[in-house]
Amino acid sequence: MADDAERGKAAARRATREVRRPGATLTAERGWQYAPAPESREIVSIEPEYGLFVDGEFVPAASGRTFATVNPATEEPIAQIASADAADVGRAVTAARTAFERAWGPMPGSERAKYLYRIARILQERSREFAVLESIDNGKPIKETRDVDIPLAAAHFFYYAGWADKLGYAGFGSDPRPLGVAGQVIPWNFPLLMAAWKLAPALAAGNTCVLKPAETTPLTALLLAEVCQQAGLPPGVVNVLTGAGETGAALVAHPGLDKVAFTGSTAVGKEISRAVAGTGKRLTLELGGKAANIVFDDAPADQAVEGIVNGIFFNQGQVCCAGSRLLIQESAADAVLGRLRARLATLRLGDPLDKNTDIGAINSAEQLGRIRELSDSGDAEGAERWSPPCELPSRGFWFPPTIFTGVSQSHRIAREEIFGPVLSVLTFRTPQEAVTKANNTPYGLSAGVWTEKGSRILWMSQRLRAGVVWANTFNRFDPASPFGGYGESGFGREGGRHGLAAYLDA
Ligand code: NAD
Repeated sequence: MADDAERGKAAARRATREVRRPGATLTAERGWQYAPAPESREIVSIEPEYGLFVDGEFVPAASGRTFATVNPATEEPIAQIASADAADVGRAVTAARTAFERAWGPMPGSERAKYLYRIARILQERSREFAVLESIDNGKPIKETRDVDIPLAAAHFFYYAGWADKLGYAGFGSDPRPLGVAGQVIPWNFPLLMAAWKLAPALAAGNTCVLKPAETTPLTALLLAEVCQQAGLPPGVVNVLTGAGETGAALVAHPGLDKVAFTGSTAVGKEISRAVAGTGKRLTLELGGKAANIVFDDAPADQAVEGIVNGIFFNQGQVCCAGSRLLIQESAADAVLGRLRARLATLRLGDPLDKNTDIGAINSAEQLGRIRELSDSGDAEGAERWSPPCELPSRGFWFPPTIFTGVSQSHRIAREEIFGPVLSVLTFRTPQEAVTKANNTPYGLSAGVWTEKGSRILWMSQRLRAGVVWANTFNRFDPASPFGGYGESGFGREGGRHGLAAYLDA
């Protein structure tokens, strides 16, 4: 055991030395580099200070308190943001209740749909502005905000706009009623997309909303509030309250809510469950995950390697459904890992606004600290750390793409959600062993299966305890497809027809 720990520490030292070697990527070794291709920031105008969005207007917090949102790639403050407290929550919930009773609730679904279509179209029209702002505030690469976050957010509004006048045909009875006022708390990893996942189905079903974005990424939710104004949405239908955890706690505790929807960590989800228990408020929770990405020896290797990379390095691994545990069939392990290492050496880490960047910044110093702490536990428990040589910028929050091999199921890096670009590799021999290891987790959000055998995909997906099972792909999202978890990953589904159920009194 002591030897293992020593070996782990030596590997960590080696990895750290390699990572610090500047500018050495595979591309560099081949003698050529990508020229910088920065996306212009000109399209975004960022105010020095932002208020809360209550009853259709931007207003300061009752207390006058503000906090800074910081660019994680540079550590520079971007803007001051109003910090809402219980008094602001009261104002927002009252505005939402009035809008529900007088405007949005009585409005025919076909009229509500027009507003949702309008929001979707404006999101498309202003997509570059949203993409740049999201990359600045969150640290994720522009190619992801441009090609994934923003188009999917617009697609959600389009999709649920289509349901607004068809609720009687959604399988919840002929005349399902909205719940009323929804309090919605979201995380920082997909700031605009999570806002769309929450708002679009709630509004389509006839509810009004008070949304609390994460404190490190409030800017695109506030720009979305501006879009609501631009779309002529009646005041009070959508309210946005910025602030930290206390703001979220004050919101979920407000007696004027009919529904609480939360996406975030399992620990906070449990707190919210306790706060809501016995109040009669409806609750859905989308929490953490520790997904198994399972590669059989008959899988097409290059395709599987792309799926592994997408599974854990997309959005720097800060994805609830990330394929953070790679299970490789033993007979294919050396070959797959060899290709994976070669592929990782081609990933480009750096400026999130550069169109060539694959790996952006970690969202906050706090999150970086958590990734470091869990990775260090991997070294200490005897796993072997490997990262490709890559230069980390001197300012900002960065972590290199990292693989741990020699991981056992009892290691913390195999059990706990790291929420960073860190892959824990385990092996298996038989399909049954793969299922047993994949299900050996308190979470149950997603899983991936890579094999050329259709029958094996079906066999596996019937046995994997996960809300979503991807076959020969990973991290694929569609507004028509329900998403959600089991166990410590939460309950309730977002997306698809199922996503309406959370906002209907059916
Ligand atoms: P977090 O739980 O720390 O924060 C999420 C949100 O809750 C933030 O807006 C925060 O301000 C607020 N909050 C904090 N304490 C609160 C309290 N006591 N009461 C009410 N609100 C409170 O999570 P995070 O670090 O922002 O996000 C990462 C987590 O989110 C990961 O665990 C990830 O797996 C999960 N996540 C899940 C999904 C999903 O669909 N299942 C999607 C994205 C992220």
